[in-house]
Amino acid sequence: MQVVRTRAELRGALGEAPRPIGLVPTMGWLHAGHRALMQRSRVDSSTSVASIFVNPRQFNEASDFEQYPRNEQSDIAICAEEGVDIVFAPPVEEVYVDGFDTKVMVGAVARPLEGAARPGHFEGVATVVAILFNLVGAERAYFGQKDAQQVMVIRRMALDLAIPTEVIACPTVRESDGLALSSRNVHLSPEERAAAPVLHRALVAARERWAAGERAAEALRREMRSVLADEPLADVEYVSVADGETLAELERVDRPALASLAARFGSTRLIDNEPLAG
Ligand code: AMP
Repeated sequence: MQVVRTRAELRGALGEAPRPIGLVPTMGWLHAGHRALMQRSRVDSSTSVASIFVNPRQFNEASDFEQYPRNEQSDIAICAEEGVDIVFAPPVEEVYVDGFDTKVMVGAVARPLEGAARPGHFEGVATVVAILFNLVGAERAYFGQKDAQQVMVIRRMALDLAIPTEVIACPTVRESDGLALSSRNVHLSPEERAAAPVLHRALVAARERWAAGERAAEALRREMRSVLADEPLADVEYVSVADGETLAELERVDRPALASLAARFGSTRLIDNEPLAG
């Protein structure tokens, strides 16, 4: 496995790399969710590339960026374990070159939910992923369904900018109590950690109501709010039942939909979602 830091080193490493190439973009503090993406890339690809870059432009709160957990040594060891061939772990100035002054802004699908809650977040995501896609030139790139709106934003961006990398969404990896793995879980106090699985319980409750035939979106949102209300440590930001393609809020769930939510536990903001389809 090669660890490269600069655009030039990356180009060099990719020069002789057999195709197809799979890319797994990450912000590090790697866990089993990231491992699952790397495993999928390894199966699909002759060369697997993982990037580790805490992207300052996608944080709408400076303190969130500063406190984001980092441990490059352990991340590199995990990449090696998962059969990654090339780790791209650049400093900021190798991603955002001197005088950098471009933003990639995706439209409607980036506006609700996380886009509304975190102004500028998806501009930062779309911009850095466009750069990574262009630098790596992978046939495929792997993202987690945990960040469902992110997958939709990146798909739109790649299609619109004619970047030929195929965007593959992989299932959310969870703890045994249902909590979606997230690098941010490390910030939870023991009490907050014990409370956090309420997110998944709320989504499962909505999904069960939907599976039993409930089609009124507001009834499903109410179900989620009522489960969340039983957990005093959950400070709910939004609950949503939205069109699975556009993310517009639904009145009736008469097409594939996405139930999603965001809540803070203390200062730690967590998100999760569950598709209502199939
Ligand atoms: P991050 O390092 O948090 O930016 O995440 C990098 C990639 O891993 C993104 O595509 C995430 O959606 C994905 N990811 C994060 N957590 C999980 C999880 N629990 N299950 C599956 N994928 C995940």
